[in-house]
Amino acid sequence: MIASYCTDALADLVAGTGELYGQQRSARFFFDAEPQEIRWVLRTVDDAIDVTVYTFSDIAVSPDLPDSDGAVMWQSAHPRPTFAHAVLTAAHSVLKEHDEAGYLARWAMHPYPVALVQDLRRLHIRDDVCDLPHDLSCP
Ligand SMILES: [Zn+2]
Repeated sequence: MIASYCTDALADLVAGTGELYGQQRSARFFFDAEPQEIRWVLRTVDDAIDVTVYTFSDIAVSPDLPDSDGAVMWQSAHPRPTFAHAVLTAAHSVLKEHDEAGYLARWAMHPYPVALVQDLRRLHIRDDVCDLPHDLSCP
């Protein structure tokens, strides 16, 4: 999946995951894949996070369309600790590969979402039972 730099894809994924630690039962955001829309819908179902990714052929009109008008390109469910840990690991590996300056240079319109990653890591460590290592040296 390739998202255009016009949307803040990594930040949206990290923020959307973090939203599921409060009262909110779902989070949604989209990647602009010019001309497609790639719409992510995260839902809390029992103790799991259901992830459904839809594609729409024309982002010029699709933001007003219901999910059911899109084509499902991905659907999976994960325990929240597993999903959040994977999102954090992905964010950290991006940062390690590019560092903040490199990230901004490549992504151009958006800096690396340091604060959002820190918030998600704090929520994950506080509220999830996760025995995997957490790289606290990583911003
Ligand atoms: Zn973890």
